[in-house]
Amino acid sequence: MNFNIQNVLIAVEDGYAKVDVQVLDGTIVAIAPSLDVVGTLINGDNKLLLPGFVNAHTHSSEMWQRGIMSNFPLELWLAEMYDFAPLDPEKVYLSALGTAVETLLSGGTSVVDHLVLIPGKELETIATAVRAYREIGIRAFVAPLIQDESLTAGIPSGGTSQTHDPYFLSTATTLELIEEAVRQFHRPDEGVSILVAPTGIQLCSDTLFEGCIELSDRYNLCRHSHLLETKAQEKLAQEKYGCSGVEHLKQIGYLGEVTTLAHCVWLTDKDIAMLAETKSTVVHNPLSNLRLGSGIAPILKYRQAGVNVTFGCDGASSNDSQDLLEAIKIGSILHNVTDLDYRHWLTPRQALEMASLGGVKGLNMADQLGSLSVGKKADLVLYDLTNLSLLPRTDPIGLLVLGRPTNVVDSVWVNGKQIIAEGKVTTINMDELRYALFNHSQWETNRKSQTVSQIEAHYRTVMGF
Ligand SMILES: [Zn+2]
Repeated sequence: MNFNIQNVLIAVEDGYAKVDVQVLDGTIVAIAPSLDVVGTLINGDNKLLLPGFVNAHTHSSEMWQRGIMSNFPLELWLAEMYDFAPLDPEKVYLSALGTAVETLLSGGTSVVDHLVLIPGKELETIATAVRAYREIGIRAFVAPLIQDESLTAGIPSGGTSQTHDPYFLSTATTLELIEEAVRQFHRPDEGVSILVAPTGIQLCSDTLFEGCIELSDRYNLCRHSHLLETKAQEKLAQEKYGCSGVEHLKQIGYLGEVTTLAHCVWLTDKDIAMLAETKSTVVHNPLSNLRLGSGIAPILKYRQAGVNVTFGCDGASSNDSQDLLEAIKIGSILHNVTDLDYRHWLTPRQALEMASLGGVKGLNMADQLGSLSVGKKADLVLYDLTNLSLLPRTDPIGLLVLGRPTNVVDSVWVNGKQIIAEGKVTTINMDELRYALFNHSQWETNRKSQTVSQIEAHYRTVMGF
């Protein structure tokens, strides 16, 4: 679709400018005042145009358990989460749509879905999420979550001898499955990419990581993983490898420019230098880290060391929403308490650049996305500056990041296609989505995880509680 956004506010180096933005065949072709109108005219009066953000780490099907998860640290939380994870592909479809809508309405145009797979229906799960993302039109990076060790192996032994059930799928079968997913669904030009995404060192063998590296090299796929989210994982890495998790991933060759790593809470200065050296990207998920008590990722240190950092919501079972602006706000001001030198604190403009350009860098698309530049793809978000939450008029970006923006997204385009108009999704029926989410769920207050009761005593001992 061809269109002109007329008289719209954009951020420039020393403030704001009012310009016209012209988009032809999905690409930004001109940014200047008073351009000739080609195609549809969009009124940009009193609106701010920004490049779309990336929700750079989430797990869409966790939406089914938002608001109900117990107060547990990650290791126990995971056990509860998996005991009640949805097993119905229809639910995967609905929560992918829900995740996409909330991402779009909080400024995102891309989502990295570290997708939890239904056992026995792995390819069907991937197909279902891909179908949802294609229907709604968000740019999707589907990262099927894989592992080859069972859940208890993710808890440090603390020097005791522990045995773990073998994982129900072999490493080879899992890798074949990912390769098949790549053949069927990896279509970057159509807005759907598949990533290799072992869940993390805590539940994956080197064989699995190496298989993923091989697939990534062969098919030009980006790499994703969780990394050192909790204190327990830091201990586990030492038990498993005799070195830090970062050092191990570097040794086996998993780190690099197309590698995005969610969390990175428990890293040493030496680890941070390795992330900088390998040009890996850190995905900061501040709400999840707070909700699960994982810790505060040293984001200011990462930036000072030259590490690329972006934001994610993480799954809605540990957040419990998918509001990207909220993640950006908390992910910025949280660090003011970690460093007394206020000159190191993140500014709203820095935070927005991290959320847009920072996000696409790790996805190997910085040449095509992430800024308002002629020649880049039109993944754009238009904000209504007359909305009450953005009034009175001060600094639009300051208020967008530090305020509590509510229903401020007026329009969203992905690859030049408009998928939100006047604050409403245009590609799917939102009433139907809401009814379906309602009808596939129920109000609950009491539930008990069997797995948690089996592993909690050991966890408390190892962690010294
Ligand atoms: Zn996660």
